[in-house]
Amino acid sequence: MNSKAEPHILFDRKEIETAVRRLASEISQDYRHKNPLLLGILRGSFVFLADLIRHLDFPLEVDFIGLSSYGSSTQTSGKIKVVKQLETPVRDRHVLVVEDIVDTGLTTAFLLDYLQKQKTASVKVCALTSKPSRREVTVNIDYLGFTVPNKFLVGYGLDANQKFRNLPDICYLEDETR
Ligand code: IMP
Repeated sequence: MNSKAEPHILFDRKEIETAVRRLASEISQDYRHKNPLLLGILRGSFVFLADLIRHLDFPLEVDFIGLSSYGSSTQTSGKIKVVKQLETPVRDRHVLVVEDIVDTGLTTAFLLDYLQKQKTASVKVCALTSKPSRREVTVNIDYLGFTVPNKFLVGYGLDANQKFRNLPDICYLEDETR
């Protein structure tokens, strides 16, 4: 990855806020009386999750799980491992997985399988962004913010080598595809 690449705005903070409000409204209709567990995937989802829950005015809980691909930072090996366990028992819970980006889909597919083995009441997926051109496995996204082109995204929680998570807009790095 080119470390000198400059971020360019793809969706600015106003567009993000509009999308987050829309998603929160959809989620509220489905989860208002279900005391859901919102499960953020570390680390990229933390900004999105923090904004999303402040638009949800009903009882809910939050936990995080850390997942990592075995491969290098740019080439996914397809093997996912849990690097931080969630602490909340999920049996009989309505779990809403909150993702920064669904790229190949391998991380989401792994987590859905992992959760279903633990006999949850239901599992759905809310993703801020989806890059369908990169998909390797089919993943159903129940609540989606933005469909994005095959560009490497940074900002609003998304990183390139751990940098740029603090940018308030969703940006792409010029000439970087993923
Ligand atoms: P997957 O390929 O769908 O399994 O995505 C795995 C993870 O790779 C995501 O949760 C992100 O953390 C990261 N990722 C994928 N595409 C991008 C990108 O464009 N920018 C930053 N991180 C990405």
